[in-house]
Amino acid sequence: MKKNLFIAFEGIDGSGKSTQVKLLSEYLEEKGYKIYTTCEPTDSPIGKIIRDIFNHRLEGDQRVIAALFAADRLDHILNSKTGILKKLQEGYTVITDRYYFSSYAYHSVYVDMDWVIHTNSMSADLLRPDLNIYIDISPEISMERLKKGRSSMEMYETLENQKKVHTKYREAFDRIGEVEKVVVVDGNKSPDQISAQIIKNITFDL
Ligand code: ADP
Repeated sequence: MKKNLFIAFEGIDGSGKSTQVKLLSEYLEEKGYKIYTTCEPTDSPIGKIIRDIFNHRLEGDQRVIAALFAADRLDHILNSKTGILKKLQEGYTVITDRYYFSSYAYHSVYVDMDWVIHTNSMSADLLRPDLNIYIDISPEISMERLKKGRSSMEMYETLENQKKVHTKYREAFDRIGEVEKVVVVDGNKSPDQISAQIIKNITFDL
């Protein structure tokens, strides 16, 4: 039986990922599991460049962004102090807010999805999630939620883009879903209902 898991949350912006990462980690911590939560883009120097591009402080072509995410992800996995492999080795169950399916969905709006999958293949070979949890929500509802909590919106946060990314997520799951463990949950429900649906799918002998 596996003692610790690697779980990746996926979904469009405002789908409720960070809310559910928090609820799941609290639930598992209460059960006595060691939990490490993380996210992409990371806090590394590469992640900082990505965020600066998102906030329009730096210029970056979509192809550059896609490549930066691939590099940030490798550091996320391999960093000798904070890397996911290190944390798994230390016995933590690692829960990440976004992993490579985010790249497949977001970047393929601009560049060929095969290229994105290929460019991230080293990450997939190094570390596949025990479980990808996709929070499926309508782009309209997610935009309403985002607008409520924000004074300004980031690069990808337009209804038009959210719709495209939503379609691309489906395409990515259809394309490579069978080599991945993917659970789809209904993100239009309440946070507690979604959390209960997620918890039903977490077993430590995946
Ligand atoms: P993400 O991390 O996917 O961008 P968040 O968890 O930050 O999404 O949620 C976006 C906004 O929607 C937040 O204001 C959050 O409080 C709210 N929210 C999250 N889940 C739900 C839900 N199930 N129903 C209604 N509002 C939600």
